[in-house]
Amino acid sequence: MTAPALTVESLDAGYGEVAVLRGVTLTAAAGQITAIIGANGAGKTTLMRALAGLIAPTAGQISVDGQPVTADPPHRRVAKGVVLVPEGRLIFPDLSVRENLMLGAIPAHARPLREASLAEVCALFPRLEERMEQAGSTLSGGEQQMLALGRGLMARPRVLLLDEPTLGLAPAIARMIFQIIPQLRDMGLTVVIAEQDLHRTLRIADRAYVLENGRVAAEGTGAEIANDPAVRRAYLGHD
Ligand code: ATP
Repeated sequence: MTAPALTVESLDAGYGEVAVLRGVTLTAAAGQITAIIGANGAGKTTLMRALAGLIAPTAGQISVDGQPVTADPPHRRVAKGVVLVPEGRLIFPDLSVRENLMLGAIPAHARPLREASLAEVCALFPRLEERMEQAGSTLSGGEQQMLALGRGLMARPRVLLLDEPTLGLAPAIARMIFQIIPQLRDMGLTVVIAEQDLHRTLRIADRAYVLENGRVAAEGTGAEIANDPAVRRAYLGHD
């Protein structure tokens, strides 16, 4: 059994009076891909935001390498290597690709490594290297997703949280993103991915958790979840 990089125990979180996550418990093993799947509104984004420290849980605990981080604000989690690539990319449209990437390297541990990180990002995404001096706003949706991923990598993450990285992308670009994610795992990163493309997600996931109405309804290896009759009926549209 691989050591857990991230553990979540009995987590409750939501927005004001609105309770979304209820008793969520999960483990992301170091150097593996852990998938969070579920229908629209199941709470995937809420979970990712809670892991990044953007939402304060109302109960439960989040730990990184066995150390609690539940009370840490987002920047302190980033310093511990927990980096979120948010849904909707959120790049800076008026800044160049290079400037957007360099903003990712702000954490103290990442700054001295930023030239090496930039070279790694360019190797993964040659398209970004070609567009280094262009404004973020001039990139296609797929290129913006590459930029958001690249910016996350510039922060030298150990645990990379990817929230719906292929949402709204053309199939060819989505395929390319799904090829990159196992490469990131093979580089030693721990990846937690929330996705709506279940087929591709379950194919790359070492472990998957199904969220239903803010609760973990099923968990298993990617293959187990893909073959679970209830999951297939509810989420994959066939038995
Ligand atoms: P999707 O795949 O559609 O993005 P999701 O699984 O990521 O869905 P969340 O975005 O986590 O789901 O939303 C879970 C629930 O929380 C939904 O019922 C949603 O309406 C609610 N919710 C999300 N953001 C807020 C907010 N800022 N204030 C109140 N409720 C919210």
